[in-house]
Order: sequence, then structure tokens, then C-alpha cells
Amino acid sequence: MKIDVSDILKKKIFKKNLDVNLKEDGFYDGIEYINFIGPIKFNGKLRLIDDILHLEGTAILTVELVCSRCLEKFSTNVELDIYEKFSNNVVNKDDDCIFINSDEINITEVIEYNLIEMLPIKRLCKEDCSGLCSQCGINLNNSTCDCKKEHIDPRLAKLKDLFTSN
Ligand SMILES: [Zn+2]
Ligand SMILES: [Zn+2]
Repeated sequence: MKIDVSDILKKKIFKKNLDVNLKEDGFYDGIEYINFIGPIKFNGKLRLIDDILHLEGTAILTVELVCSRCLEKFSTNVELDIYEKFSNNVVNKDDDCIFINSDEINITEVIEYNLIEMLPIKRLCKEDCSGLCSQCGINLNNSTCDCKKEHIDPRLAKLKDLFTSN
């Protein structure tokens, strides 16, 4: 969603409150496609200080991720504190500012960028997710298999050796 900031850039106003509900499907974060579940709520304000537009606010959203361990989809609620600076003046380009060459700022992009920064590389459905069995691939969170036992018990392993050498 793009927010029109022309009035503030033209210095007709110096402050603008934002209270928006964004309806977005999702985006590819470089690792996986992240689905948004329900609208993204953003509440914050824009302020113009010395030609620099300051965006400050909080985004509340629900995302659907894939667990790094068991590969199941799970959803999680996220609260993002957002603070970004924008400028349409090239002079401010190095000042951590996002350069804008129009009268709009793309708030969806800002939220997505902040979300990527905040999400861990290892995304787990739960802290103690048991993951998948490395041998049969079963999801060990809701089922068990016999692969592990066979591996742990050395006597069984020996027996297995006997049978395979015959
Ligand atoms: Zn998991
Ligand atoms: Zn198994």
C-alpha cells in the first residue's frame, strides 16, 4: 500500500497520523514465501523534520511460516516497531534515508523489510519441535517410529550385521 505524502513534502502539513489496515497476500523473503493471514494493522505517524520524513509506528500482523525442523506450516503473531526515514532530496541519501522519487511511500515494503530483519533464520513451530526422523521422514511431533530404537541399541545393530553378512 502506498501512502500519499505530497501534502507533507510540500510542507502544507508537518505531521500526519496513520491508522491503516493493509490487505496483502504475502511476499518472498529470499528463503520462502511468507503468507500474511488477515490484515496488517499499522498505527503510527509521519513527521517532517529538516526535509526528512520520519515514519514511526507499530505494525501488528500474523504470518504463516514453514518450520525449519518439521517443515509444517505454522502461524505466528508479530508486533513490529517501525522507524524509518525517507527523503526526496539526494543530499540526504547517505543519512540512512530511503530515497523516494515520488510523492508516495510504500508502507508494505517497509513492513516486509522490517519483518525480514526481525524473523530468525531458524523458524520453529515450537521451541522444542522434535522435527522429522532422519531415516523415515515421519514427523516426530505427532507420531513415533522404530528407526531410532534400532539405531540406539548396539545389540540390535550387531544382529543386523550378522544377517546382512550371511
Ligand atoms: Zn516444527
Ligand atoms: Zn523413523
